[in-house]
Amino acid sequence: MEFEGRYRQAQRPKYDCLLFDLDDTLYPLSYGLAIECRKNIEDYMVQKLGIEDRKIPDMCNLLYKNYGTTMAGLRAISYDFDYDDYHSFVHGRLPYEKLKPDPVLRSLLLSLPVRKIIFTNADKVHAAKVLSRLELEDCFEGVICFETLNPTYKSTISDHDDFEVEGSKATPTRSIQPFDIIGHFSQPNAVSELPKTPIVCKPSEDAIDRALKIANIDPQRTMFFDDSVRNIQSGKRVGLHTVLVGTSHRTKGADYALESIHNIKEALPELWEADEKSVKIGYSGKVAIETSVTA
Ligand SMILES: [Mg+2]
Repeated sequence: MEFEGRYRQAQRPKYDCLLFDLDDTLYPLSYGLAIECRKNIEDYMVQKLGIEDRKIPDMCNLLYKNYGTTMAGLRAISYDFDYDDYHSFVHGRLPYEKLKPDPVLRSLLLSLPVRKIIFTNADKVHAAKVLSRLELEDCFEGVICFETLNPTYKSTISDHDDFEVEGSKATPTRSIQPFDIIGHFSQPNAVSELPKTPIVCKPSEDAIDRALKIANIDPQRTMFFDDSVRNIQSGKRVGLHTVLVGTSHRTKGADYALESIHNIKEALPELWEADEKSVKIGYSGKVAIETSVTA
């Protein structure tokens, strides 16, 4: 039995799974999609939710900082809107043409002998478009996206309400006054608690835990790649191995830092080395026997 245990350990690759954020991780921030996305969010807040222009920068910062995404924050402070409408407005007009096929990354990913899964806060249409433009669609086993973690939401606005009227200056009918988040943070000794959001998204540890459960991932045997320091720090707290992408400076919570995802092989050769070991042993013909005995 002792021999059997050692044997299984030797043939096992170091990691079972690689979990990748999408935007600004699989392609560089310098493509400018993030800036465009931010502009679209601001336009949505003014045009669709009727929020005053002058409040937008502070509101965006506070919502993003406290809720993970501006969208999650808007829902927390009682703005109601259709999620698909939000996503198509915010992502629908992005300059996707800036994303080009990436054959280098494609062959790196395809040569990695472990499970590869996308984990993004974005919606599935956006994820599919980005992966298609980069020509990486078939490099991943699956995509965990907004809809995966927020499957049951129904807007409280009925289909018959004139939410999207022409001119798009419509304010949704609300019985509840939105929570004044700017006012909240302008009080030096604010005692009231921030309202909770119904949206599940990174960097909440709950979102990461749920994603791990859905994809049946063991965090101890998974490498998590993301360009966001706070996502990486949450990932570390739930037990993932972490790689901060987009910078060569490793910050707290990041086990590794990569200036570009293209550096993955130089920075993490063990992802490939582990497989070589396993193949060598596999050729000995003993793997199948071990598997059938322990199954
Ligand atoms: Mg990102």
